Amino acid sequence: MPATATLRKIPFFDYPTMFAADEHELLEIVADVGRRGAFIMQRDLEDFERHAAEYVGAKHALGVGNATDGLLLCMRAAGIGPGDEVIFCSHTMVATAAPIHFLGATPVPVECGSDHLIEPAAIRAAVTRRTKAIVPTQLNGRTCDMIALQSIADEYQLLVIEDAAQAFGARYRGQAAGTFGHSSAISFYPAKTLGCLGDGGLVLTNDDDTYRTMKRFRDHGRDDSGDVVAWCLNSRLDNLQAAILDHKLKSYDDAIARRRQVARLYQQQLSDLAEVRLPVGPDDDPERFDIFQNYEIEAERRDELKTHLAEHGIGTLVQWGGKAVHQFDKLGFDHRLPFTEALFTRMLMLPLNPALDDDDVTYVAEHVRQFYSR
Ligand SMILES: *Cc1c(COP(=O)(O)O)cnc(C)c1O
Repeated sequence: MPATATLRKIPFFDYPTMFAADEHELLEIVADVGRRGAFIMQRDLEDFERHAAEYVGAKHALGVGNATDGLLLCMRAAGIGPGDEVIFCSHTMVATAAPIHFLGATPVPVECGSDHLIEPAAIRAAVTRRTKAIVPTQLNGRTCDMIALQSIADEYQLLVIEDAAQAFGARYRGQAAGTFGHSSAISFYPAKTLGCLGDGGLVLTNDDDTYRTMKRFRDHGRDDSGDVVAWCLNSRLDNLQAAILDHKLKSYDDAIARRRQVARLYQQQLSDLAEVRLPVGPDDDPERFDIFQNYEIEAERRDELKTHLAEHGIGTLVQWGGKAVHQFDKLGFDHRLPFTEALFTRMLMLPLNPALDDDDVTYVAEHVRQFYSR
């Protein structure tokens, strides 16, 4: 029977299956950590931080509560504060901009380009005397043109802080996302490429002073002797989550290879459709190694396509609830970003998660094709 003949259920993301795939090992880890009573800042956290830093080739990695906190730590360590402007791409999660706001600085949203990543020309146009930093989002598991960004940063003496929440292990010219600028944050939210069983995050930096500052900031401002040396917060990665992440890191290369294979299958089955525009394929950009956190297409009659797929059991999502950051009225932006706004009427994310088998991908692709052939 062809795949289209039966109704499948393909949720956009499948949390129970993610757990079930590894249930035995995960429960062993919980038991082991629990029996040791090793809940906060223990060996498992240090091990994971070391392994994660090695994985991306960063000098330092620090576990934090989540990537949003992580960005706050990065920005505070960079000295961002009142009077500063910080440029970010509006096609991102509000979490990129919120830390800028909470430090008393001004978030300045700019356009993305045709690959949905921050547009270098738009950054240049937004720089003022007050601009202090650029916060590129390494969106969908793809790294921005970091050479172009760094040259703008050098020209205007700006810091680069990467929102690498979606890009742990993505590479640009061989260098990992999150290791280019002053510092960066990674997210381990369960639906991320490396997901834990709850919230979790990591900050990366190659700078020793920045590392020391961020280490204190995540733990009440305490230095190694326990002395409180600054007003700070509490944002630690649970030792249990670190143990789980350290376990998952061992098979992470395989998980990424599978995501890239799913992207390859979508590309093989959809690239001839005139009505959709696909992300750059995994084998089509010699400068990049993309990890496909998401498979974000542009589609004609997007809303109808979304409904059609839903009717056939296929979950899709428009990223960020369908709005760029500057489009959330209550946040007080008065920017117009025509390219980004138009994009948000066309974008759709197809399912791309570890629970999908090849037949699932074919089923999704067939229903996209069927929609446009009617
Ligand atoms: C998920 C995500 C975040 C936030 O990560 P949390 O760990 O949930 O705080 C920030 N930025 C981007 C681009 C994200 O995708």
